[in-house]
Amino acid sequence: MNLFASKDDVIRWLGELLKEHVVIAPVRVQEQTTFQPISQVEDVVFDFNNTALSPKGWFLPPTETLFSVQRDDGKVELVPTKVERDAVIFGLHPCDARGIALMDSPFLQEPSDALYRERRSRTALIGLACRQAQPECFCTSMGSAPDDPSNVDILLTEGEDGYIVQAVTEKGKALLPKGLAEYKGKVPAPPKLEAVPTKEVVSAMRELFNDPYWEQVADRCLHCNICAYVCPTCYCFDMRDYADKGKVERVRSWESCQSPGFSLTAGGYDPRTTKGERLRQRFCHKLLYFPEQFQDVACVGCGRCVRDCPVNIDIREVISNLKQVTEAKSGS
Ligand code: SF4
Ligand code: SF4
Repeated sequence: MNLFASKDDVIRWLGELLKEHVVIAPVRVQEQTTFQPISQVEDVVFDFNNTALSPKGWFLPPTETLFSVQRDDGKVELVPTKVERDAVIFGLHPCDARGIALMDSPFLQEPSDALYRERRSRTALIGLACRQAQPECFCTSMGSAPDDPSNVDILLTEGEDGYIVQAVTEKGKALLPKGLAEYKGKVPAPPKLEAVPTKEVVSAMRELFNDPYWEQVADRCLHCNICAYVCPTCYCFDMRDYADKGKVERVRSWESCQSPGFSLTAGGYDPRTTKGERLRQRFCHKLLYFPEQFQDVACVGCGRCVRDCPVNIDIREVISNLKQVTEAKSGS
């Protein structure tokens, strides 16, 4: 059953949630909209296309101490980082919710990542269906849709005078405010998106593994790593130990498999020394290795890497090119 909430109802509800939870919501930071923990509901942005960054940073922060080891009077104590409070992520679009669901596969498989698991189980997701799509969006080609409720606890869809509220999970039902009326009207239709030819992409990736195509595309790549940092499904990281006055902290920070030296091993061997090999790795991870391991492509079609790459490397174009190159090779 769908319910109806006016914008004032939603604002009051967020205020109530804020008393007991960390609420992460879209806010304006300089010229951009991005997800951040809020301290007041007035900061929440309701009307936005897509945020600069997805909310993946709540589960995998850009940089975070995993634990510290302290030595005191001959005793050694290991102190793990704790998750202090339950959280709600408000306003994430279906593509970003699917990104979180995809990250679950590597982070929750045993042995699972303790901090990720704790945050995931203590965070509720209140999604916001997309009423408009940006030109770079292609979620419908990557297993989702602008109104896809499948990876959130509650989905809101903006209607004429407020929001249509759909509780998807028991966790979502428990969070709903009391007293919302049933909504019996029509739910607005989602925007239509252009299709990207993803059929056979996994086999095309396998077939073109050694093709010179990758060096050609990578020639203009700047190694800025923007594509990885804005991506809701990229999760490469680096770990370092920092020692100071008898205390050592193990810190995990975002990295990218496209960085030179990312795959350098202790003996000095690097299996990916060229730009083409590293760029291919990012695409292989999304379109070949992840599907082989977890039976799903690791791209949700949010379009951020397309929008933000300074040299216009476009995953939609790469996927289309793969199809063309394999067809040309097979003579069809
Ligand atoms: S690869 Fe690009 S389009 Fe796909 S999920 Fe990542 S940022 Fe979005
Ligand atoms: S954003 Fe573009 S230039 Fe930067 S690393 Fe990614 S593909 Fe290369």
